[in-house]
Amino acid sequence: MNHAQISQQIIDSVAQSVRESSDIPAIIGKTLDIIHTHLHTSLTCFHVVDDTWQSYRLLGIHSICDDDVLAQRLRILSGQVFPFFEWQHHQHQPLVIADVQAEMCIEEHREKWQCWAHEQIQSIIFIPLWFGNCYEGMLTAAFDTTLSQETIRVSTLLAVGTYIAAALAQARLSLTVQSEQTSLYTILDQLPEGALIADSVTGSIRYANETAASLLQIPLVQLIGLPVHQFTRQHIPDAQNMDQGTLPPWNFFLIQALSGEIISSKEATIVTPNGQKIVVLISCAPISIKHDKQQILTGAIILFQDITKTKNVEQHKNEFLSIASHELRTPITIIQGFADLLAQMPLETSSLNELTQSALMHIVDQSEYLTRLIDAMLDITRVEQQQLHLNLAMYDLHRLLIQVVDSQLMTTNRHQLHLTVEGLQEQESLPGVFDKERIIQVISNLINNAIKYSPDGGTIEVGLRVAPTGDRSEKHREAWIWVKDQGMGIAPDECLRIFERFYRARVASNSSLSGFGIGLYVTKEIINRHGGRIWVESSLHEGSTFYIHLPLFSSPQITTGVAD
Ligand code: ADP
Repeated sequence: MNHAQISQQIIDSVAQSVRESSDIPAIIGKTLDIIHTHLHTSLTCFHVVDDTWQSYRLLGIHSICDDDVLAQRLRILSGQVFPFFEWQHHQHQPLVIADVQAEMCIEEHREKWQCWAHEQIQSIIFIPLWFGNCYEGMLTAAFDTTLSQETIRVSTLLAVGTYIAAALAQARLSLTVQSEQTSLYTILDQLPEGALIADSVTGSIRYANETAASLLQIPLVQLIGLPVHQFTRQHIPDAQNMDQGTLPPWNFFLIQALSGEIISSKEATIVTPNGQKIVVLISCAPISIKHDKQQILTGAIILFQDITKTKNVEQHKNEFLSIASHELRTPITIIQGFADLLAQMPLETSSLNELTQSALMHIVDQSEYLTRLIDAMLDITRVEQQQLHLNLAMYDLHRLLIQVVDSQLMTTNRHQLHLTVEGLQEQESLPGVFDKERIIQVISNLINNAIKYSPDGGTIEVGLRVAPTGDRSEKHREAWIWVKDQGMGIAPDECLRIFERFYRARVASNSSLSGFGIGLYVTKEIINRHGGRIWVESSLHEGSTFYIHLPLFSSPQITTGVAD
């Protein structure tokens, strides 16, 4: 065999062992043997470098030097004393020291070559092990003769180094993945929530914790390996009895996460093998690893929490609220009707004296207040049970706003309430499709709040502007509405929270101003249902501005004339 054939044989053998195995010690052992046998090295060794390139750890050595002291010296090499500390950072090229003994004779080089000092080491070839941009370590081949023309040995070792660097990088990567996986599983094992991880390639469950197994009522050993898509049918003995319309099955979200979506806090159902239905709150996220600057999706994780009890309590509460509100409404309407009737009788024709008349006015006022309260309670139950339906039709939003502001003007004499309209002529209509009563409710609620939460009076501005459509068509026209006051304001951390059910800002609840924290919750729902959005900008003691973006044609099927 000539030199080129020997070189090829070495490279082929190393490549094959790297391909066939991921066992690093075995690959290294075999490579050391091959190099020694064919290139007649006196010493061959591999070092791996640590993450900071500060120290090299001996991975494997083949030596004919028969010197324990030498092997011991090479076990850990400091990056600082390694002879080519400077060189390794900049070069991917090998370093050939043709005559080590000659180098040792130079006073200032002696210390740096000290660790390689041995009578059977006359020359050394150092091959840095680079895999792409990752520096993995060093291959050292020493010979008992000095070197002259060494291109073939160097190029052979360089090729071998490339394969070994790839194997080391691969091993490092899988070690990192493995250790991260172990710590992730340890954390998930401890979670009070159910946790499952599905594999993106097989689409089956790769990991489940005990809580998940007990929620799904499938033993852990059976759960691992089950395909995610199977759950919907396989584990529902009586699928038609399931309340399909309301909540999707839990695995539906996991499948979505497997295609890269993040899902947070969604309600879903688990139907156990014996038909029991459990309501869960779930969050899902895809899991990916970074490889070659690309994110590769490897799976998805789902966490679920049993909220069946809370849901049942909530449902009972809603039912109670709904029944109570309905039952209260009839007697209140009757009381209000009669009181109204009596109160409107002229004093001279009625047998009522002034005191009774004023008492009747109070009864009317209070029953109106009760009616509003009952309506708000009914609205809450409608929102909760997703039964807040809109009666959509075409209306003139401009006119509607004028009417609402006019009627609200009478409710206060401490505030200056005015309407600002931008981009529309005085008489110009602004047609849009919406639920008129609900939009009146929204604007009235915002104005009422502006009045209520500005106890010292001030100016209240109701604004309307037609938003520019930009590149979008007329169908996407939006109205921008705002209600601005100079009242007590809202702290920044509460600006989102005031739209939550029953939430009242601290400054309001500390004051004597009464309220239930229902209005904005329902308002937000109404605007959302119209495809719009509402938010507030406010500073404490400086007033608040509530903004609404309302699409004018969120329901394109209605295109006929403008109603009043
Ligand atoms: P309520 O006024 O009955 O408490 P809302 O849902 O209408 O209920 O309002 C929720 C909370 O938002 C109020 O309690 C108040 O703290 C705050 N809020 C609403 N509007 C204003 C406003 N214009 N200025 C200051 N705070 C407001």
